[in-house]
Amino acid sequence: MIDSHCHLDGEEFAEDLRAVIQRAQEAGVTKVLVPAIDLKSCHSVLQLCERYPDFCFPMFGLHPEEVRPDWQEVLSTLRSTFFPLPSPSPAPPSPIAIGEVGLDFYWSREFEQEQLLAFEEQVRWSVDLQLPLMIHCRKAQNELVAILKKYKNQLPGGVFHCFTGNEIEARELLQFDNFVLGIGGVLTFKKSPLPEVLPKVVPLDRIILETDAPYMAPVPHRGQRNEPAFVREVLLKLAEAYQLPPEEVDRITSQNTLRVFDRITKKTE
Ligand SMILES: [Zn+2]
Repeated sequence: MIDSHCHLDGEEFAEDLRAVIQRAQEAGVTKVLVPAIDLKSCHSVLQLCERYPDFCFPMFGLHPEEVRPDWQEVLSTLRSTFFPLPSPSPAPPSPIAIGEVGLDFYWSREFEQEQLLAFEEQVRWSVDLQLPLMIHCRKAQNELVAILKKYKNQLPGGVFHCFTGNEIEARELLQFDNFVLGIGGVLTFKKSPLPEVLPKVVPLDRIILETDAPYMAPVPHRGQRNEPAFVREVLLKLAEAYQLPPEEVDRITSQNTLRVFDRITKKTE
């Protein structure tokens, strides 16, 4: 299994990181993809990925909830520090994607304009650098889709992470080629409609697995700190929903992840 979205650089794992990684590997996790959320975490993500090459893979970007009036300065520093061009080779862990980026109007629209502009800027990076996007979207799908549509034919692909929407929303997102839905712990929640929604409208080749650890722990760990080993619970629930053996769902979703994040295989070839 590949955990395609895990904040393994977070303080929550500082005490027992080695054990967390060991449990993940014992559970069958072969790779963990780690998104940054701001400049500080870009550094911690990079450090983590240097420490665990071939297991942890970095993404760099500015998360919508971290967007402030100084977003332009932050993005310009982020771009020149973490996406140097031309990229030196062999480089230290180079980014496999831009993320996590997106729009979040769940708590507040205080920085709505800034969020829209910062997201679009990072979408343009994706086009320029041909790196996929790791997208976070909450209460903002209309605005998000409107921006992505402008670049539809030039985008290399990406992930709508932590998808929790309905059939219509799923269809709308799948219009973007080489984009997939990141499915995590919410799938296992008792009242989640996802086990019914997904098989109806989402082919399995458009789904990848994630934890979003330390958040969103799946049942039976709900409420605890999430960790990459728990991605197994998501796999099992997804296999049940699609009525396929878990091994088959693991094979397909892992393949999907490597297709979207094609830098991973380029690097380890
Ligand atoms: Zn996240």
